[in-house]
Amino acid sequence: MLSTATQQPFDAGLRDRFHRRSLEHQRPLSTVTMAFTVVAFLCFVGARNLVDGPAAPLGYRLTCALLLALLVLAIPRVRSTWSFGLIGVAYSQVLVAGLAMNIVGVTQPLLWTLPAMVVIPICAAPLWLTPTHFVTGSVLFYATAFALLFGQPLTHDVETVVWMWIVAIGVPTSVVFHFGFYRFRRNHFLLESQLAQLAATDPLTGLQNRRAFVKQAERRLDTVTPDTRTSAIFLDIDNFKSLNDRFGHAIGDHALYQVAQVLMEEISADDSVSRIGGEEFALLLGDGLTGALHVAERLRHAIAAIERPDGRLTASFGVAEHRSGESIMVLLDRADEALLRAKHSGRNRVRAERALPREALQLLADDGSDENGAPVRRHRWEEYYLTSYFQPLYSLSHQKQVGFEALLRGEQDDGTLVPPAVLFAPRPSSDEGGLDRASHVVHLANARKSLPDDAWLFLNILPATFIAEGYADQLAKIVRSVGLEPERVILEILESHGGSVDDMSRAAALYREHGFLIAVDDFGAGQSNLDRLLRIRPDLVKLDGELIRATGHGTEQPILPKLVSLLHLAGMLVVVEGVETAEELILAVESNVDFAQGFLLGRPAKEIAPPESVHRRIDEAFDVIAQGRAHQHALFETEVEPYRVALRLAADALLAGVAMEEAFARLARFERCISCFILDDAGRQIGQEVQGPAWTTDGASLQPVANPRDARWDHRPYFRNAVLLPGVAVSSNPYLSLASGRPCIAVTLALQFAAERSVIGVELDWSALGLPWPAAE
Ligand code: GH3
Ligand code: MG
Ligand code: MG
Repeated sequence: MLSTATQQPFDAGLRDRFHRRSLEHQRPLSTVTMAFTVVAFLCFVGARNLVDGPAAPLGYRLTCALLLALLVLAIPRVRSTWSFGLIGVAYSQVLVAGLAMNIVGVTQPLLWTLPAMVVIPICAAPLWLTPTHFVTGSVLFYATAFALLFGQPLTHDVETVVWMWIVAIGVPTSVVFHFGFYRFRRNHFLLESQLAQLAATDPLTGLQNRRAFVKQAERRLDTVTPDTRTSAIFLDIDNFKSLNDRFGHAIGDHALYQVAQVLMEEISADDSVSRIGGEEFALLLGDGLTGALHVAERLRHAIAAIERPDGRLTASFGVAEHRSGESIMVLLDRADEALLRAKHSGRNRVRAERALPREALQLLADDGSDENGAPVRRHRWEEYYLTSYFQPLYSLSHQKQVGFEALLRGEQDDGTLVPPAVLFAPRPSSDEGGLDRASHVVHLANARKSLPDDAWLFLNILPATFIAEGYADQLAKIVRSVGLEPERVILEILESHGGSVDDMSRAAALYREHGFLIAVDDFGAGQSNLDRLLRIRPDLVKLDGELIRATGHGTEQPILPKLVSLLHLAGMLVVVEGVETAEELILAVESNVDFAQGFLLGRPAKEIAPPESVHRRIDEAFDVIAQGRAHQHALFETEVEPYRVALRLAADALLAGVAMEEAFARLARFERCISCFILDDAGRQIGQEVQGPAWTTDGASLQPVANPRDARWDHRPYFRNAVLLPGVAVSSNPYLSLASGRPCIAVTLALQFAAERSVIGVELDWSALGLPWPAAE
């Protein structure tokens, strides 16, 4: 084993590490031995004071002791082998000088110093550190000793003999002692480093193994500074098992070796790479996410060039950037999660980590600029950058912009846009919630500078995010951190699965406490229902664009006006989306909608756009409606006038005592006449109705309510309006006939009939297309 160790080339780097390692080993030993020598020297000084004769001043010798003690205290602070050697040399010089002063005036100086001459080179352990230390230190020691102790001419034979002993035995002994010991330590060191290397290396590929990689990464992450960036790449060979199964393990092993070679060739010296498990590899790079994604892409291409017997080898990659304070294991976990998505999306691809809003928040903290000073507009999300588009909303009555809806887009590296439907598309490991939250941060970051003071920002939010514990507080904090107030933000709860109505209404209260306004998006689509609306009680309701075009059953009449008045009644403002044509705008205005949004008024744009001159369009819509109303009124009046005339004649006839059948004969001949009737003061039908040509019993499903004689009609507007204007023939708005299931109108007239108030009337079928309808409301 020893011989193997010594065969390893002992290059400068290794030698340097060995010497530094020796320093660490020797430091405690030297401290103890040298401290012991200081005590021995003090005893020696004490012993000299017991002997008579002129001596060197005691202060000088004690100063030497003090210097020696200071040198010992300096040992724990020494960093380099060079300064360690310097301490050794200084120590031996001071000690020799002290000894020389201590023996001044004694008759047998050599007897005093002989043991010290042997002990000092052994105790001055720093001198053993390297051969250079030893040679330099020893030469200086013996030279000084000779100059101070033996500088005088030798007076006794015995002195010559002692000196010869020192030269003949002391010097060779310390040489042998030093080099023997040095060599032993060096071999031990080599063996140890060889073992350490074996323990840290994967034998098949020669790469670092998991343990070593993690240890090295931990050290590296411990020393990161705020301006250094580190990323991890996790890769896994695709369909590797099939390679083993079909062609044998040797082929599999060779493929692993080839992949390792590619990894080592492609990365720079500062980066580390490891075979972390079976066919999984990990890399740690000194670069941000974007740089690491490029490296991963390069590696993917390089691996895809390796052949396997049935085609080419491929690998999937996950990339994550280190966040401050995060451990290597958490970083690898995040890269692994991205790798999993790469596998799920079809293998042989690179996927980036899912960045969290916390990271995006850090972006915001930089005052909205990236490193080039450009405003932050994009945020990395998987293989896309998230960015915001803004579409204006207009108040129809005020004819001005009142806010902007922030719409999420993904941007690919080449600038191609990806719609939210793709971003939010369900995938095996998709994280809708994370994306939703990230979108809020991105929108707020983008909107904060250019959102006009009097405009709202509409943010879409998934029900699951809306009810997430603590999100109301968190969002309020984010909104404030970009310099906005929650009052400026309207949360549009998206129409989607997730979130019980109870949870939603509880969450709505929390958001309201912060000042947020709440809107329900896409009402009229998907699962939206009135109960949800009445429980959440949003401030605004956004109507699905389709509702603009929806018409009543069997008619061309839009249902929007009625829906809007219903929502107004419930205390909610109404927004219509998807206004694309002038007709739709006119309908929105006519329906009393509060706010409108759509391509006609402004398309989604990257910038929050200054108001376009769309107020002209809205103004025109108002004009059209005003004219249309008058025109429609005239048409309707003209259409119903003959019925009114006929009804007045019927009233006169009835009052003159003509029988009902005969009195209504003329009216009952009108093509649209369903029936003529007389109602008593309580709205109950008197006698048999006179049926007209439009009388039908076709509406079979309504059969149970088909007989008008069973009912009371005094709640109907046509009854009440007639009673308000006795003697005047009034026409109603269209209503749904219970008997036929079709729209109809009634012309009615109240009269005093045999001292009792009655209402006579005719019900007309108003379902034919092209008939004028009275203007709404
Ligand atoms: P996927 O694309 O989903 O990663 O599929 P896969 O087949 O690559 O992954 P799976 O985890 O199912 O199989 C990994 C295989 O790697 C199973 C194991 O036999 C093989 N493997 C692990 N270590 C070694 C090794 O050192 N040498 C060889 N030849 N094969 C190994
Ligand atoms: Mg695999
Ligand atoms: Mg695997």
